[in-house]
Amino acid sequence: MRWSRYFWYTLKEDPADAEATSHKLLVKAGFLKQVASGIYQYTPPALKVIKKIEAIVRKEMERSGAQEVLLSVLNPSELWKETGRWDAYGRELFVLKDRHGRDYCLGPTHEEEITDLFRSFVNSYKKLPVILYQIQVKFRDEKRPRFGLIRAREFIMKDAYSFDEDEFSAMISYEAMKFAYDRIFKKLRLKTLIAEASVGTIGGKMSHEFIVLTDYGEALVAFCENCGYCANAEIVPLKKQKEEQEEEKPVEKVPTPGITTIAQLSDFLKVPAYKILKVVLYISKGEPIMVLIRGDREVDEKKLEAVLGTDEFRLADDQEVQRLLGTSKGFLGPFNLPPNVRVLWDNSVYGVKNMVSAFNEIDYHYININAGRDIQYGEFVDVCLVEEGDPCPKCGAPLRVGRGLELGHIFLLGTRYSEPMKALIKDRFGNEKPVVMGCYGIGISRCLSAIVEQYHDKKGIKFPTVVAPFELDIICVNQSDEEQKGVAEKLYTYAMELGLDVIYDDRDESPGFKFADAELCGFPYILVVGKKVKEGKVELWIRQTGERKDLPIDNAVQEVSALIQKDKL
Ligand SMILES: [Zn+2]
Repeated sequence: MRWSRYFWYTLKEDPADAEATSHKLLVKAGFLKQVASGIYQYTPPALKVIKKIEAIVRKEMERSGAQEVLLSVLNPSELWKETGRWDAYGRELFVLKDRHGRDYCLGPTHEEEITDLFRSFVNSYKKLPVILYQIQVKFRDEKRPRFGLIRAREFIMKDAYSFDEDEFSAMISYEAMKFAYDRIFKKLRLKTLIAEASVGTIGGKMSHEFIVLTDYGEALVAFCENCGYCANAEIVPLKKQKEEQEEEKPVEKVPTPGITTIAQLSDFLKVPAYKILKVVLYISKGEPIMVLIRGDREVDEKKLEAVLGTDEFRLADDQEVQRLLGTSKGFLGPFNLPPNVRVLWDNSVYGVKNMVSAFNEIDYHYININAGRDIQYGEFVDVCLVEEGDPCPKCGAPLRVGRGLELGHIFLLGTRYSEPMKALIKDRFGNEKPVVMGCYGIGISRCLSAIVEQYHDKKGIKFPTVVAPFELDIICVNQSDEEQKGVAEKLYTYAMELGLDVIYDDRDESPGFKFADAELCGFPYILVVGKKVKEGKVELWIRQTGERKDLPIDNAVQEVSALIQKDKL
């Protein structure tokens, strides 16, 4: 490809609205153009990278026996009503009507459609197992689209679905997909963690996420460097600690004028924050729920969702606090409560002696509260947000915690979809029963962002060779120097003959401009054809390592070709 004719235009400045590094670099390097919030166009080099990612994914899918299909983008509401998800999916579903007034959604995921396809053709165990997959554009009406392709409203996904006779066989399909995913991310050169995950709204029995650690991830992951345990924070159990061995002091009512935060209170009373009872009041379906947690910890609302069995809850506002308990937010306490308030004690509170607690009276706190004597423990739950250093549930070693971006997610669904949709098969004993399913997703466009997040420096992107838009960039420093131009043309022709994916920067631009673009756009190998041609040499830049060295003109392309072949192994 000659860059002078190629549709690829880099920007001089960082895009103003981009927060995430990958978003910044992909826009600046001319890969993406935003059309609307969370919706992007891919330029030719971006599509080249996407195709390379897809090729790796396809190869591993086919290798594991999965077969490619293409389902529809427009999903009729009837199918979604069969599983109850038409109403349950929430506002992230893009819905629309056709001219006859029929309802459709733009598929955010395709369990319903694939189950419909399956049931139309298969009704016997003899045709099983089968795994079908597709690579397609999907839609999700995100409340806050952010970080470019990381949280977009339109995105490219690979989704696969397995169908098995029974759960045992389904587990084998699940493991085969897990293995394939592991290979895919290794081939993409992405360092991923495999985290145990919640089955969430999609339903099912078991789930793992493939996660890369980045500041722009939406999930917290906890992992143990001692035993290898790794899980989404929302499912990391935190147990009650041992009771503190401390003499119980007499309870006192102390004035705490205008002090409403844990930090202020800790300072004022000279009490460590963990001994202060933090009280958070939620409203769920009109009912008040009071959560009690240690002052130095936070409530994990995903854990709370699991405890309550619904995501329909929110923090109580000032008026509600006033109406229910006659106080204001800084002075909430588990004393003299109306009977309709459900009180949840987080495990972290257990065994803490001489606690500080408010008691719904403004400007006062109790000190030296002790359970059993001054207050009775109630319903204990685990709603505490896991933190760095919490004990690993497997081995007890301190956990590490990081932000994670989910690239792949696999679920053992069971019969969550096949049962309501009556996708039935006859098993080997002649019994009719719902087929056992699994589903498996990879965010293809998100992988592009994740690669850039993992491979970049101050100058720009450092694509691994396997997914680079071009493997080699040939730069002619002075386009009007006949000798340089001649050598560059020769190297370019030879590189194409060797089958290298090469771009020749023959643009009529300054050398500095071309060098900056070469490093911004992330080519793994750059051949600089400049003044050294007089000595029979060109310069090779290796982007991953920053190494630069002279090569004889006659040998240069072959040497780069050998390096590229090595990278692809
Ligand atoms: Zn461990």
